[in-house]
Amino acid sequence: MRFHAGLLPVGPAHVGAGGPCSIESRTQIDASAQAVARAGGAALRGGAYKPRTSLYDFQGLGDEALPLIAQAGKRHGLPIVVETLAEAHVELVAAYADMLQIGARNMQNVPLLRAAARTGRPILLKRGPAATLDELLLAAEYILVEGNPSVVLCERGIRSFDAHTRNVCDLGGALRLRELTHLPVVLDPSHASGRRSLVEPLTLAAAAAGLDGALVEVHPDPSVALSDAAQQIDGAAFVRLAERVRRVRRALATDDVLVA
Ligand code: PEP
Ligand code: MN
Repeated sequence: MRFHAGLLPVGPAHVGAGGPCSIESRTQIDASAQAVARAGGAALRGGAYKPRTSLYDFQGLGDEALPLIAQAGKRHGLPIVVETLAEAHVELVAAYADMLQIGARNMQNVPLLRAAARTGRPILLKRGPAATLDELLLAAEYILVEGNPSVVLCERGIRSFDAHTRNVCDLGGALRLRELTHLPVVLDPSHASGRRSLVEPLTLAAAAAGLDGALVEVHPDPSVALSDAAQQIDGAAFVRLAERVRRVRRALATDDVLVA
């Protein structure tokens, strides 16, 4: 399993993700997909149903976003990852997506975990903003017990008291998870920091430290993004980041770290 910028390998198959916070239009998701493919990312991730804190913020295009990301993935040869917010969406999302994301707010939504697991799709499980590592591991077990072994754990920052970063990036916690479980562990530096300027250094730190991957928000023009504008990077930045990740991995000669 290799560390990819914007990516996640699961077992022998590479399943990964880089892409916009929200799928906004056909041209926007296609441009994101093009950048992810050019960077060598393993998959395209985009949100159709957005779990926004405020009712007054963009909620995602919903069902109509699914064919848009599916077509972009197909055009650029990338598997796609989409978050499922509710049990009611699981079947529909699984009909389009190669991998299902369970977001931070739903980490302990047991019926959703079980329903998503039963689709047989690999699951990207994000750590809740106030969840302990044990709680994350126990949440993953609800997926495993349904007979679905393909779970990727994602550190996306935990809540603390300082407002200069959106969350606190618990890199130490993510590394501790790798000691505790055979499951791949990746970092989402975008939500962990909330700041575009910190996405590359955090991803490089994760790569150097030996995490299994990163999930990076990539938008063709972050300044006009309908969600999470401050933390998305553009396609050129993502391509550069991927190259730097490769250089870090080469320098450390840990390119082929295998995860059992
Ligand atoms: C997301 O991945 O776009 C998202 C909403 O992340 P989280 O669930 O970690 O807040
Ligand atoms: Mn987001």
